Parts: sequence; structure tokens; C-alpha cells
Amino acid sequence: MRGVTSGLRVALVDKHRFPRDKLCGGGITGRALTQYRDIFGGVLPDIPLERRDCISFHAFGAELGTVQDAPPLHLGMRRALDTALVAEAIGAGAVDCTGHAGALSLDAPGVRVGGKLLSAPLIIGADGVNSPTARVLFGQAFDRARVGFALEVERPGAAPEAPLRIDFGAANWGYGWQFPKPDGTTIGVGGVMARNPDMKAALRSYLDLLGISEELPVKGQFLPFGDFRAVPGRGRVLLAGDAAGLVDPITGEGIAHALKSGALAAEAATAALEAGDPDSALRRYGRALAPIHRGLRQAGLLRHIMFREHLRPAFIRSFRASRSLRGEYLRLLAGETEYGAIMQQMALRLPGFGWRALRGV
Ligand SMILES: Cc1cc2nc3c(=O)[nH]c(=O)nc-3n(C[C@H](O)[C@H](O)[C@H](O)COP(=O)(O)OP(=O)(O)OC[C@H]3O[C@@H](n4cnc5c(N)ncnc54)[C@H](O)[C@@H]3O)c2cc1C
Repeated sequence: MRGVTSGLRVALVDKHRFPRDKLCGGGITGRALTQYRDIFGGVLPDIPLERRDCISFHAFGAELGTVQDAPPLHLGMRRALDTALVAEAIGAGAVDCTGHAGALSLDAPGVRVGGKLLSAPLIIGADGVNSPTARVLFGQAFDRARVGFALEVERPGAAPEAPLRIDFGAANWGYGWQFPKPDGTTIGVGGVMARNPDMKAALRSYLDLLGISEELPVKGQFLPFGDFRAVPGRGRVLLAGDAAGLVDPITGEGIAHALKSGALAAEAATAALEAGDPDSALRRYGRALAPIHRGLRQAGLLRHIMFREHLRPAFIRSFRASRSLRGEYLRLLAGETEYGAIMQQMALRLPGFGWRALRGV
């Protein structure tokens, strides 16, 4: 646990007491587990998890292929995962200020919690996609023209036979998912909000496609993908996770980058304080985040090929025809490859891909 274990005094402020629910598919990728191991030392968080290595891909109702020996994806409830992470932080020595909303104070540097000021030389704002901290710093937490939006339902009851599936086309510039969990199944659709004026209808169609007719409570949340903050904070305030816009614009994955950016922010804060130069923390953090930013930028380019209406049919044909393309998608989730390598492969295939794209228009 960075920061606390380096001897810093750390206060953990969250408006909720834990356990609390968080709308999320709860897909914990190999990439996220690597971050978890790196930060907390354990192999897996000690929570109920469903482990799947068989994943099927679909588009517009047609199966594109099923991968039987995929790098495993673990699925769990964020209620349990986040409670375990908070317990790790408190166990490592962070002062427990959960159950109180915090408000960034810039004039007396610190965070106002329940009428009191917690003064601090450095603050890490990891307060989610609607980040009140980012709003104080920048006037808004995200750009509505570019943000993503997702809707989900939880279908209760164990579903051991429900396949883990991903459906391109279930939402524009996004996808649909069916994620089996130990106690239920999460089904959702998500994509760029501006390109999905009726996301509720997209969810309804997707549930119909899956043959799910019961009425289930629908919940929605913004997804900050494709619009990360190039400078992840201001002054002595660093933004991490969704508050910094670090969701992958193709896969919608955010847990891995949230874990990693939180750790990098803590490392930058520690190094800056040790150097007696807290003002250098943001610069250090920005440098450390560069590889994540590079990957998100590349994903932002690639998604034009995957999701742009006139190229999408060719992408879908390629995805169906190419076992290696499906494998690359899964290796990406596993953290075994990066967008840079995928871009190189795409460039090699581009003549064929471009030809199929042209035939598709
Ligand atoms: C429908 C949906 C499905 C998703 N599925 C997946 C998936 O399967 N896999 C994946 O990797 N990612 C998924 N994501 C993305 C993932 O949920 C996020 O990227 C991730 O939770 C980001 O973590 P975070 O810590 O930055 O923010 P959050 O998890 O949102 O945590 C922010 C915290 O800040 C607290 N907070 C907010 N305001 C205040 C305040 N004023 N004072 C104090 N505390 C405050 C909140 O209570 C909360 O605990 C999904 C997202 C959505 C919306």
C-alpha cells in the first residue's frame, strides 16, 4: 500500500461506509489482478469470484466465435471488492474517514469533511466519474459530448451455465455484456452517450436477444472513456481512476487503470514529499501516467476502425474470421499485450482489412 507504507500520514475519505454498491460489470481482468498483486501482494482478493476462461463474442445476434482457453477473467461484486480494498488501506494504517463526503478546499489546502478541515500538502482525488474534486479544479468532471454511458441489470440467482459473452453492436461505439457472477448475472450495454440517444431501448433489445423477459431494476452511470485528462490534476491535487478519465474506450475496463493510477499518484506524492518539493508531485505523476495515456490514445484511434459505422461490418467480418484477432482482444484484457502491438499488427493487415472495409460500404 503505497503512501501509508512509506510512512506518510494518509486519510481515506469516502462519502459511503463500506460495504456499498457500485454499478459495474465487476469484470476483474488479468491486467487488474497484476495491479492488485503489485499493490497488495495477494494473488486474488479474498472475495467470492467466478472464474471463466470461455468467452463468446457476438455481433447483431450472430456468433463471431467462442474462445475456450482464454486468459481467465474473474467476476465479482464491487460491493465485496471495494470493501476488501478499503480494509487493506485501513489495515495498512490509513485513517478511516469513510462515511463522510469530502469537499476539496483550495484556499486552506485540504479536504473539508463533516465541517472540519483535513489539511494536507497533497490530495489524491479518486472520487469517480462525477468527481466533485475535478469539478472544483476544472468546472466539470467530464465532457458530455464525449463521455460514455452504460446501463445494467443484475439478474439474481447462480447461473453456472450462462456464458460470459460480449456483443458488439448492442450499443453504438460500445458493446453489450453478460457477466456471470457467484450470485447472479450482470447484463449491460454501454457506449458513447452522444451516439446512443436511447440507451434504454438498446438495453431492452439486448435483454430480448438474451431471452430475458423479467422486469429487473435498471441502473445507469457515466463511463469516462476516450477523454482522459492530459494533465491529471492541478497544483497539489492529483486525480486518479475515473476522476482522471482513465477508462479504456474499447473494452470499457476501468478497474486496472484505477488501481494503477492510484498507486502511481501515491508514489509521486511520496517522492515529492521526500524531496521537500510537494509542487513537483503533479509533474512526477504526469510522467508516470504517460504509458497509460499512450495506450488510451491508441485505443481512441483504434476504436474508429472498430466502431465507425461504415468500417464496422469489415471489422466484424475480420473478428469472426480471425482467431488471432479474438485472441489479441483477450490478451489485451489479460495485460499480456498493449495497444501499440495491436496497432502494429493492424497496420500489417491493413491492406486486406481496408479492402474488406471498402467492400462493406
Ligand atoms: C455499468 C458499468 C460497468 C463497468 N464494468 C466494468 C468491468 O466489468 N470491469 C472494469 O474493469 N471496469 C468496469 N467499469 C468501470 C469501473 O467501474 C470504473 O472505471 C472504476 O470503478 C473506477 O474506479 P474509481 O476508484 O476511479 O471510481 P469509483 O469506483 O467510482 O469510486 C469513487 C469513490 O468516490 C467516492 N466519492 C464520490 N464523491 C465523493 C465525495 N464528495 N466525497 C467522498 N467520496 C466521494 C464514491 O463513494 C466512490 O466510493 C464499469 C463501469 C460502469 C459504469
